[in-house]
Amino acid sequence: MLKNTFYKKKYIPVNPYTEDRKQEGSISGKKLCPSCSSVIPETELVENFKVCPLCSCHFPLSARERIEMMLDKDSFREFDSGLSSYNVLDFPEYDEKLLEAEQNSGLKEAIITGCGRIGGHKLVLGVMESQFMMGSMGSAVGEKICRAVERAMEAGCPLLMCCTSGGARMQEGMLSLMQMAKTSAVLSRFHKEGLLYISIMLHPTTGGVSASFASLADIIIAEPGALIGFAGPRVIRQTIGQTLPDNFQRAEFLLEHGMVDMIVERSQLNATLEFLLRIHQGGANG
Ligand SMILES: [Zn+2]
Repeated sequence: MLKNTFYKKKYIPVNPYTEDRKQEGSISGKKLCPSCSSVIPETELVENFKVCPLCSCHFPLSARERIEMMLDKDSFREFDSGLSSYNVLDFPEYDEKLLEAEQNSGLKEAIITGCGRIGGHKLVLGVMESQFMMGSMGSAVGEKICRAVERAMEAGCPLLMCCTSGGARMQEGMLSLMQMAKTSAVLSRFHKEGLLYISIMLHPTTGGVSASFASLADIIIAEPGALIGFAGPRVIRQTIGQTLPDNFQRAEFLLEHGMVDMIVERSQLNATLEFLLRIHQGGANG
């Protein structure tokens, strides 16, 4: 009975890089830019922070790659690496999907949390992994975020969240939606402590993640061209019956309308973070 209750027709999978940026192709040691179609040697791409040198298209980075790129060498210490989801609702095919996601990403969940340093400044951070079920937020993701925020409070240090997500994890139903309130509540306590919270919205940051912890930062940074929004443009178009602007829900549109504070190219990210951490450093932040 329970299985029938939760049975749904399969959704059409939406890959963020096929919607309007075609999947980047790979030709033996070279990558095809999904935006300008130029063929870039992989070594050159890696040296350029995985950004197309010709059109500045930002290729996706894995959570591990991002941590390595952002943090001071050997400074990262991971929290709760063994925490993983449990199919509490006995949702059809969820166990298989979790296993597949674990194999795809090499992670137990859609976020890595831990502490480290940027330019010598200590911070607690969370980096979401889109290769794990599109970075969807289930109970384990919410719990890892809450624990990270609490650790930042204990240490009195800033918090950084790199967000990329398709939203709440539908396989966990209400338990997944509850993580929006849970992460928002812990961040409310964090704000009362007067500590700095920076969020970086990556491509794409949508659904319940954009509508909770990703948008609650003191400073919201976005990567160029990132898709950021709650519902998709098609749903909005159908609901309001109006034509939407071309760059609707893109980082540049959101910056223009005050939803993000700055758009930072990947090559400038570390310098920007270092600057922000330096000007906000308090007594407890060493
Ligand atoms: Zn390009």
